[in-house]
Amino acid sequence: MNRIQSNTTPIILTGKHFFLDDDCACPDSPQIFTSLQDTFENDCACPSADSADLANLLPADNRLYKQADSIYRDDLSSDFRLAFSPYAPQGPSVLNLSAWERWQNFAQPRPLSQPEDAILAQQNLIMPVTAPARLPTPIPEMLTAWMHVTNACNLDCPYCYVRKSSASMTEEIGLNAIGKIFQTASKRQFKNVKLKYAGGEATLQFRLLKKLAEHAEQLSQEYGLGLKQVILSNGTRITVQDAAWMLENNLRLMISLDGVGEIHDRTRPYRNGNGSFDAVRRTIDEVLLPGGLSPMITVTITQQNAGGAADAVRWALERDLSVSLNFYRHKPDSAEDLAAEENTLIDGMLAAYQVYEEVLPLRPFLNGLLDRTQAGGHLHTCGVGSSYLVINHEGALAQCQMQLDAPVSRALTDDLLLQVHNGPLKNISVEEKQNCNTCTYRYRCAGGCPLETYRASGRWDVSSPNCHIYKTLFPHAFRLEGLRLLKMHGWLN
Ligand code: SF4
Ligand code: SF4
Repeated sequence: MNRIQSNTTPIILTGKHFFLDDDCACPDSPQIFTSLQDTFENDCACPSADSADLANLLPADNRLYKQADSIYRDDLSSDFRLAFSPYAPQGPSVLNLSAWERWQNFAQPRPLSQPEDAILAQQNLIMPVTAPARLPTPIPEMLTAWMHVTNACNLDCPYCYVRKSSASMTEEIGLNAIGKIFQTASKRQFKNVKLKYAGGEATLQFRLLKKLAEHAEQLSQEYGLGLKQVILSNGTRITVQDAAWMLENNLRLMISLDGVGEIHDRTRPYRNGNGSFDAVRRTIDEVLLPGGLSPMITVTITQQNAGGAADAVRWALERDLSVSLNFYRHKPDSAEDLAAEENTLIDGMLAAYQVYEEVLPLRPFLNGLLDRTQAGGHLHTCGVGSSYLVINHEGALAQCQMQLDAPVSRALTDDLLLQVHNGPLKNISVEEKQNCNTCTYRYRCAGGCPLETYRASGRWDVSSPNCHIYKTLFPHAFRLEGLRLLKMHGWLN
């Protein structure tokens, strides 16, 4: 499409599939292109799947609409603008000048009359003047459970929150726990179960993982529930046979990588002090990728590696791997602080974003760009208390993997959510958090990790100690998403 055409036909690009009840491609219809955001694995609980019902695009009434409050906007290029509503079902939208002009008309209330108006409304860039603005909050469909299969690890990472020992989960404990997880999912009417196998180093217990994964597969069929399984690993000791088994049995793999070479070695040494980068590189380049298994990469950013985040991102993107950039979280009951100083962290993240802009993958990457923030609108930072369970190696139930040593119950019932719901960790809605409830980014950030907030302030109902970092980086992350959408549809010069 040439530039003149792109300026006269309204074009709105978004990062989410939706269905328009119109099988006609009239030339004067807005051209809407959508793509799904990736779901990244990280070592936290995904927030509940709060997303808009995208099927009902055109309201049946004649309500007046106007521009939503607190719209974030940016000039992406001379021909395209970026616009983001706090109430957007997914990330920001890209509008060409024609669509942008139409949006500006809604500075004054008016009814929907053009095809593109429905898209602006669906993205909540315009909203009914009479209805109070709110985020749709459907019931979460996925129950996620962290299975802490061992305390043991062959590495000795300084930021690790696991109190290391040789203790591991027994088969009996693991099978019983998975049974309770499925009972809970069924009772609570979830549609899917996700199991995350972690440690310590989970692959030290590979035989157990296989037993648990096979049992989960069997239960998923018995209960008629979908199943996703992920292994969280340091990537140092996965064999060709392990990788083949994961592929065959549909298990995903997440590997921690904190830099390239010496920077990774600094934060992820073996117990004898030697670095582990070479082993991770060998696993990925010589075992996983040749075997057809693409791991997801997670980078934990501390004061020791913030300056190396860009190299880690480049290394992963060169291999076409998904990357998730996460901030260090303080260990419970520890005075140690490995968090990067704020400006160092921001500089390191911006350097990593520069790499994204150079490479600009077509696959969606917004969900991995900024700690726990997610492109899809949601009220709670994570699923703690509503769709997330943690089972420690002794079979006890905890609210969060950071609290393995402080379980809420040592006995598992057939409704595990009831047991975690009333635990001490309060994962409250962002709408109840001071300073957050008017923030443009509130439904992407949801106020940050509740444990980090409580550690910093002694309160659950205030904004994250990382708030300034998030607010500084969101515009850059959104811009990258806008550029990705333009590239995907051939409009990036
Ligand atoms: S922590 Fe900061 S960026 Fe996040 S929602 Fe609250 S005010 Fe907004
Ligand atoms: S409380 Fe914090 S560390 Fe725990 S799952 Fe939620 S975001 Fe992650």
